[in-house]
Amino acid sequence: MLITYPKGQLSRYGLIVFLILAPSLYGLLCYIDISRITITFLILIVSIIFYNLWRIYKNETELITTSDKAFEFALAKSRFLASMSHEIRTPLNSVIGFSEQLSQSKLNAEQAAQLTAIRSSSTMVLDLVNDILDFAKYETNKANFEKISFAPFKSINEVVDIIAIQAAQKDIELKSDISFEETVCILGDSLRLKQLLMNLLSNAIKFTERGSVKLKADLVVAPGGKQAILKVQVIDTGIGIEAINLAMIFDEFAQVNYLPSTFKPKGTGLGLAICKKIVECQDGEIKVVSELGRGSVFSFSIPYELCDEQLLENRAITAIDLTSLIGKRILLADDNRMNILLIRTVIGKYQITSDVAYDGQEAYNLFERNRYDLVLTDIQMPIMNGIALSKAIRLHVDLAKRDTTILGLTANVLPEDRTRYINAGMNDLVLKPFSEQELMEKIAIQFDRKKQV
Ligand code: ADP
Repeated sequence: MLITYPKGQLSRYGLIVFLILAPSLYGLLCYIDISRITITFLILIVSIIFYNLWRIYKNETELITTSDKAFEFALAKSRFLASMSHEIRTPLNSVIGFSEQLSQSKLNAEQAAQLTAIRSSSTMVLDLVNDILDFAKYETNKANFEKISFAPFKSINEVVDIIAIQAAQKDIELKSDISFEETVCILGDSLRLKQLLMNLLSNAIKFTERGSVKLKADLVVAPGGKQAILKVQVIDTGIGIEAINLAMIFDEFAQVNYLPSTFKPKGTGLGLAICKKIVECQDGEIKVVSELGRGSVFSFSIPYELCDEQLLENRAITAIDLTSLIGKRILLADDNRMNILLIRTVIGKYQITSDVAYDGQEAYNLFERNRYDLVLTDIQMPIMNGIALSKAIRLHVDLAKRDTTILGLTANVLPEDRTRYINAGMNDLVLKPFSEQELMEKIAIQFDRKKQV
């Protein structure tokens, strides 16, 4: 049987036991008539034990306080990062959205090139914000891992197919060697596995000038046939990493400085730190072996539960009929005029009409006077925010109005925020920045859902 003690209790119990036993021991020693020297010697030893116990107790208490403080600090950091990401994502939404709209218009060659530069720079900023947010989620244990059946063969190949384009651009040979069947089915988070593979493979291509990048994947089935360990190796013939830097390569914001100018990293230094979190949150292991000038081998192993191949979901996305949206009327609530303009530009193309409000109260007044097919609301607005607006709509006396679909517009992607918005009455969320397709799909899915009810 394993006995566990609450934090800091062990040394406290030791201290109490000692305080009770010491006087009894002293009395006993006097009673059995032991010489004074022996008694003094024993007292000295007992005092040393007492002093050490006190020191252990003090250290333990300090350790607990420090670890509590570290946890609080991590939480505060995560909150700060989440709100900072919101502030960045909102204007970024306009930049990415309008560049998308502009790219569909007639441009001369110079304008098209400038627009491409704007799009790629804004996408880079978005990647950075996403990386920071992602890392904050893992650090505060707020990342939820799905447990859904999927075929690792397919997931790995999907990533390899995407990376093949980058490899071809650099004339690097990309090989993949998967030792298990296409039909093998495991329970887990396929998106996280793909994110992990994507990070490792794109690093391998990024830091290889000539030669090859090879992916090796094996599945080691445990006795009993219920569990298996997925073992993946990404082997490159690139610049390699100096032994001294290997120890810190998985630390956040770690970037090796000796890199020649052609390899000046464009990344955030968070890719490998995120990989480590993804693997360790699933009880796996990740490591690297590398030799400067010869190449690197990044390998990870993650245990998964095996499942029946019939459980493999056919997640084909049903085609959405956007023509059914013609003539719909939307109430748009957002205090950011750029966002309003962007959304109206997009939905206008599908002949959806809209009324606009710049705060929640104005939106609610319009909602009282008119009938809408859908309310699209920002969360942070003056006077009345999107949460209060959604709650007010859900309490409306008119039952038909009360049932109006509400889509929240947000840059906050933390799971607890999502739950808060859904609990307030929103049917779903549109994450900023969104593409035209993402916005229209979210709207169409809601109308489709209503049709089926
Ligand atoms: P970044 O987003 O900056 O690439 P990573 O965490 O993914 O951040 O990588 C951290 C650093 O580790 C990189 O800047 C690079 O110096 C080194 N590194 C990662 N992968 C490789 C690789 N395959 N070969 C050589 N160096 C690598």
